[in-house]
Amino acid sequence: LFIAFEGGDGAGKSTQAARLSDALESRGLSVLRTREPGGTPIGEKLRSLVLDHGHGTIDARTEALMFAAARAAHASQVIRPALAQGTVVITDRYVDSSVAYQGAGRGLGAEGVLTLNEWATEGLHPDLTVLLDVDPADGRQRRTAGDAAEDRLESEPDQFHSTIRHAFLDRAAAAPSSYLVLPANADIDSLAAKILDRVESLLRV
Ligand code: C5P
Repeated sequence: LFIAFEGGDGAGKSTQAARLSDALESRGLSVLRTREPGGTPIGEKLRSLVLDHGHGTIDARTEALMFAAARAAHASQVIRPALAQGTVVITDRYVDSSVAYQGAGRGLGAEGVLTLNEWATEGLHPDLTVLLDVDPADGRQRRTAGDAAEDRLESEPDQFHSTIRHAFLDRAAAAPSSYLVLPANADIDSLAAKILDRVESLLRV
């Protein structure tokens, strides 16, 4: 089972990914929690390369290709092998982040970014994507509240985050049965319970 967490900066994806992973492990399942950009040594290098330069300074297509390159390694060297062993894979960000940030945010368009990533991942899609839908104003508070790393896009205007938000929502609307869309500002425990409930229903089938 392959699960992706998506959403804007400050959505609480890492917290919910950790909660889900702990809950599944306590049920005796083998779980791999991973993240993008990152997840492999080359992916972590590409992460620092892209993020250290600051958003917008790398040419948009170059940036999209770098994220896709990191994702190709992640899919073939980490995600597929784990899935083949029956491990539940939980990733913090996947293709939809590129559709949102490079496609919508950087203006490349969803179609090209999807085609590129379809090739990069050899068509590896999550069974479920949990979209933590973040209102840009809430996200701003969370981003500046404390744990926001300096490599995040916390300084971008609300308009940018709003564009990102709608790109994520469009992805979910295009394939509602493989998405769980939840309001990121809801209570942490109730979000964790809803996510676990949905994942358990997938594990039963
Ligand atoms: O997941 P995390 O918040 O740590 O991501 C680090 C930064 O990379 C964020 O600012 C995010 O917006 C950005 N990012 C991006 N394009 C992606 C994935 C992440 O610009 N495809």
